Amino acid sequence: MFNARSKSKRPLQRAQASRRPTAFYAGVGSSGSHPFTRNEENARLFKYEQQVKQAFSRIEATLRRVSALQHEEGFEKKAQDIATADLGFALPESMLADSWIKPLDIGSLYAWSVFETIKRMSDEFFIDKPLRSADEADFQCFLEECGFHTMDISPCADGRLAHVIRYVLRLPYKAVRRKSYAGAMFDVDDSLQKWVETEMLRHREGRPNSADAQTRYLKVAVYHYSSKLPKQEGCAAHGSDTLRAAEAALERLKAFKQGVENSFCCGASIDLLLLGIDTDNDSIKLHLPDARGEIDVHHPISALELYDATRGAMGTDCETSVMRFMTDRCAAQGASLPNEGMMRLAVRLLCANLSQIDYVRTYHDGCYSDLGHQERFIGMGIGFEEIQLRNLTYFAYLKTVEEGAKDLDVGIKIFSALNVSRGIPIPVVIRYDYHGNVPGAKTRAVERCQRLDEALRQRFGDLAERGLLHTLLMVRDCQMYGRAETVACSLKTDRQEAH
Ligand SMILES: [Zn+2]
Repeated sequence: MFNARSKSKRPLQRAQASRRPTAFYAGVGSSGSHPFTRNEENARLFKYEQQVKQAFSRIEATLRRVSALQHEEGFEKKAQDIATADLGFALPESMLADSWIKPLDIGSLYAWSVFETIKRMSDEFFIDKPLRSADEADFQCFLEECGFHTMDISPCADGRLAHVIRYVLRLPYKAVRRKSYAGAMFDVDDSLQKWVETEMLRHREGRPNSADAQTRYLKVAVYHYSSKLPKQEGCAAHGSDTLRAAEAALERLKAFKQGVENSFCCGASIDLLLLGIDTDNDSIKLHLPDARGEIDVHHPISALELYDATRGAMGTDCETSVMRFMTDRCAAQGASLPNEGMMRLAVRLLCANLSQIDYVRTYHDGCYSDLGHQERFIGMGIGFEEIQLRNLTYFAYLKTVEEGAKDLDVGIKIFSALNVSRGIPIPVVIRYDYHGNVPGAKTRAVERCQRLDEALRQRFGDLAERGLLHTLLMVRDCQMYGRAETVACSLKTDRQEAH
C-alpha cells in the first residue's frame, strides 16, 4: 500500500534495503535452472497464472457441453450442475430458460461467464493479494538509493506484455506506475502531467520523498518483438519491425524528457530507460543510457546472453556477476557507463529477468505455445492493477474513446480475429479508478464509464447490434485499496432490462 511508506517506517526500511541485496537472490537453483533463479517464487507465480488462465480456458469447453444438452429433458438443472462443477458458479437462469423453443444464446452466456470470471479474479487479487511480493516495502527505498523517486513504465498495450511488472521484471506492482499504449507510444502530455503531480506531492507532502532529495523521475518504455516469428508476431503497431519499435519508443522518451526540460527551469529533467521484450520467452534487452544519458537502440544488453554467461557462476552473488557482465559489455561496445544508481537498478532488473527466463523454460518449454494474441478480454479506461498476467487482457488506457481511438481499434481488430471470426462476442471491461477522498469522484467515474460505453457502441455499432460486443462497467476507489465495484453490464440477466 502506498500509505505503508510512511516517514516513520523509512529508516528501518532503508536499513533493510541496504542489507538485502545478496540474500535477496540467494534462492539458488534446483536441477537445471540458473544458479540465480528464484525457483520458489517461480513456482508461486506459475500456480497463480495456471489458476487464472484455466478459469478462463474452461469457459468455452463448459459452454460447448451445455450447448449440446439444450434440447434434453431437465436441461436447466443439468446445465447448472455442469457450470457449477466446471466453472465454480451457476449461470443466469434467464439465459437458460425457454431453450425448448428458442436456441440458447451461447454468445451471451460466454460473455457473462467471462465477466463473472473477471470479477472473481479481481476480487481475489485485491482480497487475497496472490501476487504480493516480499520486498514491496523495500523497493521504494531501493529506488531512492538508486537516485529515483518514481518509476513510470509504459509497455505496449499488447496483452503479451501485461505481466511485465510482476513477472518479467519481478517488480512490486504497487510501487511502480504502469500505463500501456499501443506500440509503447505513451502520451507525452499525460506523462508530463504525472511528472508535475509527482513533483507537487514531493514539495507539498514529502511523498514519496522530499523535494530537496537529489532524485529524479525515471520513465521506462517497453517495446517488444518475437524471435521465433519476427515478421508476424512482433509489435502490430510498428508492423512487426523491431528496430522501428525500439526507435519509436526512444523518440517518445526523448520527447518527454525535452518536454520536462523545456517546460520547467532550474535544471528540471528526468532519467530514461528503454527495454525490449522477446514475447516468446520473456527475455529482456536493456538499452542503458551512457554517462551522458544517451541511449543506443542498436547495442542493448541481452539477458539471454547474461543467462548463458553466468550459468556456471556458483559461489558468487548475482549482483556481482551481473555488474561485471554489464561493465564488460559496455566496455566492449565502447560505451561509457551510466551513473551508479542506474547500474544498480539495471542489475536488479537483469537478475530478476534470469528467474523469468527460467520460468518460461521450466513451465512453458522455453517458449510460449501462444506466440500470438490469445487475450480473453479488452480492458478499457483507467485502472486494472489486478491484471498482471500475460496474454489475458488487451489494454486500451483512455479517458475518451476519441483520444484512445487508435489503441481501441487495434484491440477490436485483434479480437475480431480471435472471437468474432468464430461467432464469439468481444468482452470489454470498462473501468475507471477514482480517488475516493475527492468529493464526487465516484459519480464522475461512473459517468465516465457510461460515456465510454456509449462511445464504444457508436464506434463499433455493427458489432454491438449483432450481439458481438458486450461490456461490463466497473469503478474502483484506488485509495482504499478495496475491490472493484460493478456498475452495469450490457447483458440481460433476468426478464427485465439490465440497464
Ligand atoms: Zn506492441
